[in-house]
Amino acid sequence: MKTIIKTIVISSFIAAALVFSSCQKDMNNSKNAQYASVINVSGDGTTAVIAANVQSAFVETAALTKTELVSLLKMKEAEKLAHDVYSVLYQKWGSQVFSNISAAESNHLNAIILLLTNYGAADTSIGEDGLFSDNEVQKLYNELVANATLSIEEAYKTGALIEEMDIKDLTISLSSTTNENVIMVFDNLLKGSRNHLRAFNRQLTTLGVAYTPAYISQTDYNLIVSSSMEKGKQYRMNGQGNGQSKGQKGQGNRGNESCSN
Ligand code: ZN
Ligand code: ZN
Repeated sequence: MKTIIKTIVISSFIAAALVFSSCQKDMNNSKNAQYASVINVSGDGTTAVIAANVQSAFVETAALTKTELVSLLKMKEAEKLAHDVYSVLYQKWGSQVFSNISAAESNHLNAIILLLTNYGAADTSIGEDGLFSDNEVQKLYNELVANATLSIEEAYKTGALIEEMDIKDLTISLSSTTNENVIMVFDNLLKGSRNHLRAFNRQLTTLGVAYTPAYISQTDYNLIVSSSMEKGKQYRMNGQGNGQSKGQKGQGNRGNESCSN
């Protein structure tokens, strides 16, 4: 029996060592290859995107499809909505979580603008706080703010609602793209939204308030809030964005594959 346990322990050690060395080998193979995360996750779950690393992790791809452009513009509005609502709620309630997450949403918005700029898309402007060019988004913003200023419970519920809405939209968008750069950004924004959902759920739990999700299933919600905050995976830092060194990061550059940590 002892021998069996010993064998299991040793073989898992060997397996881990093999994974590690293949990762090392991969890193040594490419000249100057460096790996880094494109997000920064704080203890409270606030997930900020590191713009310079997103830029460095970009690989060369085909141009954006119309569908990808539409979903990027939609997420740009969604991140602005999150930022603008949380910033009003911080002023109203003074709860630090709104201040921290509002700043992170501003980073998320920047990451989408980096993507749009990388592909030469024209619409990279950000309107004033609380103002949206899309009437539907404007209406949603007004309703969310009106409701969230009623009580701190409603404010945290609004936070959870915005995050689960983003989780749903990002998941749909991810299923309709094969663009590695869009996938990298959306994957990380999705991680951010799950972490923010955990953060708001934590506040609601402290107040003894039960939250019922509206955009994702109760099963998915439970799975997210019962698991721990997610860290970012490591991406190869290529140094420059798309289009600045054409030909060097062409086909076969699996820049977004990585040694998982
Ligand atoms: Zn966000
Ligand atoms: Zn968020």
